[in-house]
Amino acid sequence: MPQKDASRCWLCGRTSAEVRESAGRPLLPESEVEKKSARVSASKANFARETGEWWSRVPDQVKGMDFDFVMGNHAQFKAVGFIDEAEKAKTDIADPMSDAARRVRLGEEVTIGEVKISTDDKSRRDAVLKAIEDFEKRSGRLLSNGTAKNDSAPHGFEGLNMGQGIGLLRDVGMLYYSVQERLLESDREEEMSKRPTFGVGVARIPSVSAEILICSICQNLVTGLPSA
Ligand SMILES: [Zn+2]
Repeated sequence: MPQKDASRCWLCGRTSAEVRESAGRPLLPESEVEKKSARVSASKANFARETGEWWSRVPDQVKGMDFDFVMGNHAQFKAVGFIDEAEKAKTDIADPMSDAARRVRLGEEVTIGEVKISTDDKSRRDAVLKAIEDFEKRSGRLLSNGTAKNDSAPHGFEGLNMGQGIGLLRDVGMLYYSVQERLLESDREEEMSKRPTFGVGVARIPSVSAEILICSICQNLVTGLPSA
């Protein structure tokens, strides 16, 4: 008579079917890609909330002033609460995005926040270039200097007043985070497709030093332990 529990994991007692059911849930350690993904999503939500508040904090006298002028002299506008935040977003997000637009067009290595794209990664380069070109078409502005086809369009924040500049800064920031989310999501899908099929099988575990019936989740967990 076949033993009913023959295929249960020695550690957690799950059958292959039960293991497959729980695979991918918090039992599996989070991968680097998933950690990056979580950081990008959190930063994006934070940025959307912060920039949403900026508009209500712009004094009427400042709304019509030139964006580049105010950002270039941000220390003089200390009393206007959000100016430092906006200047930081321009330095940390809009400038790197402009640099990424230039580099992707020149065929150089590109870094966008948590994502690095090598010179030979054609599909991801194409995806980034497409996102940038769509953005430039929508906004009627170029993100990078001197390298786009339609070079007569205004660059960056050129000629915008504070009100318009904040709007563009917000849009560029959302692009910056969305591009990262999209690339990390395709990395995650690729990673998932490479993960082993989950089930219960016989394995030799160094810390146990015997062949045992163990599921892939427990195996993943135990092989990380130092052996006795
Ligand atoms: Zn197990």
